[in-house]
Amino acid sequence: MVKIIKAVGTESAVSPMKSLEIQRRSLLPDDVEMDILYCGICHSDLHQIKNDFGGSSYPMVPGHEIVGRVTAIGSQVTSFKVGDLAAVGCLVDSCGHCPACERDLEQFCDSGATYSFNSPDKHLGGMTFGGFSQSYVCDQKFMLHMPQNLDLAAAAPLLCAGITVYSPLKHWQAGPGKVVGVLGIGGLGHVAIKMAHAMGAKVVVLTSSASKVEDAKRLGADEAVLTKDPEQMAAYAGKIDLIIDTVSAKHDINPYLNLLAIDGSVVLVGLPPEPLEVGAFNVIKGRRSFAGSNIGGIKETQEMLDFCAEHNLTADIELITPAQVNEAFERLEKGDVKYRFVVDMATLA
Ligand code: NAP
Ligand code: ZN
Repeated sequence: MVKIIKAVGTESAVSPMKSLEIQRRSLLPDDVEMDILYCGICHSDLHQIKNDFGGSSYPMVPGHEIVGRVTAIGSQVTSFKVGDLAAVGCLVDSCGHCPACERDLEQFCDSGATYSFNSPDKHLGGMTFGGFSQSYVCDQKFMLHMPQNLDLAAAAPLLCAGITVYSPLKHWQAGPGKVVGVLGIGGLGHVAIKMAHAMGAKVVVLTSSASKVEDAKRLGADEAVLTKDPEQMAAYAGKIDLIIDTVSAKHDINPYLNLLAIDGSVVLVGLPPEPLEVGAFNVIKGRRSFAGSNIGGIKETQEMLDFCAEHNLTADIELITPAQVNEAFERLEKGDVKYRFVVDMATLA
């Protein structure tokens, strides 16, 4: 018996978000069901709603930074019990046996991972529906354990913004002695500042917003550069080891490549819908790399949550009700959020 639940979603790329009813599958032996307490709003939700990449399917219920409490477990579930705090991020299924899955990199699954929304649903047909809803059901392997000591609303953005910046910071070895630049101080960028600082790196903020220059130190940055000011940019030429680029729109990448030290990397996590041009001399000089990174696997997501629990690290959020979601998407599009909207989903009931 499927369960009918309330959700907030959209019927097309240009329609407002509204109340919808969706189905959740009945529990399979390895499934965990949770009531959703909070769900963050990521710029990827906005890209998907607007069909920025093509391939969006409607009706769509976005939301992939999901925190809640377990309400039921399948007969084979061993890692959760009813009442546990739990979380779901971007990934809810993968083949489990390809080389990527065997390396705990489910996001690169050969068969294509199942994402928490707008992804083909193997069980119910149609597409998966995300966290702007009352409850979620997925296999225990894709359900995360939420640390007890973190503010749950402020921790919700860790499930996408957090892992998306934690994974490249770890992979490119941010830590003592390294200079990490964070480009674009939105949801992802502000968490990247906090994480790189907690890992012991020197953190340089690269922002187009003067108000964020002032805020950078409070967030844990050592220095901040207003990217529109050529003199400030020139002062950092060749000085940064790793730049995490979170910018969501088309931008010129070459001025940032020129800030890299020898063997430095710009790692793109932002998803500008258009291709970015790289000048040959900006990468051959200094043996620089222009790379990318996509969220992180489930094992690394749990490691990231435990790291945040240890450092008491969460997002700076504006908590809103489900009725304010349309206004929040309009403000996110204009860059008017410091630094993440989180929806109080318990009020949907
Ligand atoms: P966000 O909160 O909107 O932040 C994006 C930031 O980029 C803005 O705050 C702004 O920072 C800067 N920016 C935006 N438009 C710009 C422009 N035209 N020129 C220069 N700077 C601009 O978005 P988010 O939720 O952090 O997501 C950022 C991007 O990452 C999105 O494209 C999202 O889809 C993508 N994403 C990717 C992954 C992945 O796995 N790779 C996961 C999650 C999200 P300043 O004001 O500081 O300049
Ligand atoms: Zn996201």
